[in-house]
Amino acid sequence: MTYVEQLLKYQDEDEKLLKVERELAGSQERKNLAQAVNFVTKATERLEALDGKALSLSLTLEQLNKKYAEVAEVLAEFENLDELLEGGADIAFYKKNLAQISDKLKTIKQEVANLTKSIKESNEEFQTLYTKYRAMQKQGKEFQEAYEKLKSEKRAESEVIKKELEKLAADIAPEVMQRYQSKRSERIFPILCPEKAGRCSKCGSELSLADKEKLLSGKVVECDNCHRFIYKL
Ligand SMILES: [Zn+2]
Repeated sequence: MTYVEQLLKYQDEDEKLLKVERELAGSQERKNLAQAVNFVTKATERLEALDGKALSLSLTLEQLNKKYAEVAEVLAEFENLDELLEGGADIAFYKKNLAQISDKLKTIKQEVANLTKSIKESNEEFQTLYTKYRAMQKQGKEFQEAYEKLKSEKRAESEVIKKELEKLAADIAPEVMQRYQSKRSERIFPILCPEKAGRCSKCGSELSLADKEKLLSGKVVECDNCHRFIYKL
């Protein structure tokens, strides 16, 4: 067997390994798990943000309550209005004051209404998201188990192929094997492809005269464009 034939045999076996790797990477199990992890991560961030918002809203409510108490205190002074007027106080002044306080109370009332709405919405969002988050956390565990199961199955398949590859590699010169593996790690596949009418059969790039001569003498050359090994049997 020529070394090109040996390499091709190795590549055929290696293709099986690649297929197993791709089956795992492209599996529904992996996609499900990735989606669940993504959801849980984003939901955690949102829940934390909502938690912060709830704190800020409750502080605002506290301030608003304080403001309301202050205004109510001022209003209490008007309980003695009759006495004040009897004592010769200016009614116009108190009327103006009363109108201002009434406006203030209206504003506070509106603010309280807005705040209550915000708190309610924020609470609802939190509850809905938290329910989904818990459900996804639970489902995520199932997805994780399914993925681990598939991974161990694929690992077992890979081990069988890798043993075969080791046997085949024993017949191939180490420096050739090293160059092959370096291409493999660059995600080039197939790594070896046949020459076709003086060109690389994979990308169609024309080979130099020197490379064509090398091919005729049974050597392997490298495509200048896609960097695959080109052979001629
Ligand atoms: Zn090429």
